[in-house]
Amino acid sequence: MQNLNTSINNLKKEYREIFAASIEEIQNQIDKIKPKDSAIGDIFDRYEENSPGKTWQKETLTLLNGEISREIFRKLNEILAYRTKFDCTRCATCCNLACSEFSPEELKQKAENGDNFAKQFTSIFIPYKSKEEARKIYPEYIKLLEDNKEDEVYFYHCPKLTEDKQCSDYENRPQICRDFPDNPLSILPKTCGYQKWKEEIEPIALMLHAMVEIVEFYSGKLKELI
Ligand code: SF4
Ligand code: SF4
Repeated sequence: MQNLNTSINNLKKEYREIFAASIEEIQNQIDKIKPKDSAIGDIFDRYEENSPGKTWQKETLTLLNGEISREIFRKLNEILAYRTKFDCTRCATCCNLACSEFSPEELKQKAENGDNFAKQFTSIFIPYKSKEEARKIYPEYIKLLEDNKEDEVYFYHCPKLTEDKQCSDYENRPQICRDFPDNPLSILPKTCGYQKWKEEIEPIALMLHAMVEIVEFYSGKLKELI
């Protein structure tokens, strides 16, 4: 437990550092296309229509949503492709304990509204009757969520899992089962065969996550100004 908590805290610290470095990196790229005009200040200042400052803001938005976003998604695809070098050890923990911030009713609603992930999720997972039932499967994880005062989390399991931990419908399992884990920043059980993958790619995954957040923030502010 101590180890899990320590690694989460280290991760948060590492993320703050990576976030600061990523802001600097993106700001450098924005400054590179800044017009050489002493009247131009910050990228988030207000500029007259058709002024060099306004043009700079428009070009920055294009840069963020074009070249920079493409590079982020290229790297994300690379780390997901690298996952195929590792193997699932069929420990079945991800079948036995799936967590979601959404309640069964919310997931059902999302599925009805066409959310593909929710559709797949609700097609296999059913909720645990209580948190205590889920705790028996992965006590460290439940404790970790409690210690970190995470918002309410709902726990699910798949009834297609047999008593000897086999998927009874393996050939027809949905894509979300085939893709797990598709988020390198999610917490994986110790038994998961993709732990090594996660450890190796975590720094770059953190950087990409930070860059996505920064691009979204910059783009949102610039859209209000343009
Ligand atoms: S469908 Fe099979 S692989 Fe998917 S969660 Fe259920 S038991 Fe696991
Ligand atoms: S937790 Fe990891 S190793 Fe275990 S069944 Fe799921 S993907 Fe496979």
